[in-house]
Amino acid sequence: MNRIQSPVFIAGHGGMVGSAVCRRLAKEPNVRVITRTRQDLDLCDEAQVNRFFEEEKPATVIFAAAKVGGILANKMYPVEFLTDNLRQELATIHASYQHGVKRFLFLGSTCIYPRMAKQPILESELLASPLEPTNEAYALAKIAGLKLCQYFRQQYGVLFHSAMPTNLYGPGDNYHPDHSHVLPGLIRRIHEAKLAGDASVTIWGTGTPLREFLHVDDLADAILHLCELDNPPDWVNVGTSLDHSILTLATLVAKTIGFTGAILTDPTRPDGTPRKLTDTTLLRSTGWAPKIELEQGIRDTYQCFLREFDSGHLRSK
Ligand code: GDP
Repeated sequence: MNRIQSPVFIAGHGGMVGSAVCRRLAKEPNVRVITRTRQDLDLCDEAQVNRFFEEEKPATVIFAAAKVGGILANKMYPVEFLTDNLRQELATIHASYQHGVKRFLFLGSTCIYPRMAKQPILESELLASPLEPTNEAYALAKIAGLKLCQYFRQQYGVLFHSAMPTNLYGPGDNYHPDHSHVLPGLIRRIHEAKLAGDASVTIWGTGTPLREFLHVDDLADAILHLCELDNPPDWVNVGTSLDHSILTLATLVAKTIGFTGAILTDPTRPDGTPRKLTDTTLLRSTGWAPKIELEQGIRDTYQCFLREFDSGHLRSK
């Protein structure tokens, strides 16, 4: 097993995943981390990206950059979700190959799998049947990136591979009232309901869809593990293989926050895919398992939320 090769470029270091990887790498001795803000390096701009690789010569690239959003944002802006993501991936993967990057880890998400994928979802379900329409554009871009890494590895023998995390949560999440994912959405809504003394809070959809949640610090740990494998899978699921209904999740969030009102559902809002649970046998077979349990993870995340909320710096975009 190789140690992670330095220097490491973290594309998208300001995002929830990128910042978790930075925190994790800070604990590694002898690893130099390279980052760039969006203002300093536009990953959609091939010429800029090439210049950056020429100057910095990263040995490892962790591609955590993406235009991401929840169910509503994906439905509203499919053009941007497809094109922005494709352009960033193409520029960065090509530049990595041209400038001799030793290890490229591409990050996507389990929404690349078909809507009706057999559950728990195995890696082999990729492209087996149609995608979930509410996040098709993002999924198509991520499938293209994953496949491009696989093709580079197959055609040119470079160590380019991918990790597909399940729904993530933890520090640095986006708390936009409409565009966030479900866990930060619920933390914010239920916290505000508690402050307002409301008798009830309404969650989107029927509350019956099943989702799996992985703490982003667990993902950062899995990323390092994968970057140290000599023969990693082309793509691998990263998850807990445990799922919960959205209503159960809302109840857990309410308990953590201390909100005692009723939780109502709103079936006029979309549910999205009915169940999304990953099979993590492949990752576990390489010697890695998650460590942070959901209740503990929600408690920690709520403390981070409170610090941001109380200081008026809640991430919400
Ligand atoms: P998905 O996992 O790609 O479907 O994306 P989300 O995390 O946005 O939504 C997951 C599920 O949670 C869907 O069934 C939503 O309808 C439901 N949900 C309930 N309340 C909320 C909320 O406040 N925000 C979001 N984003 N989803 C919610």
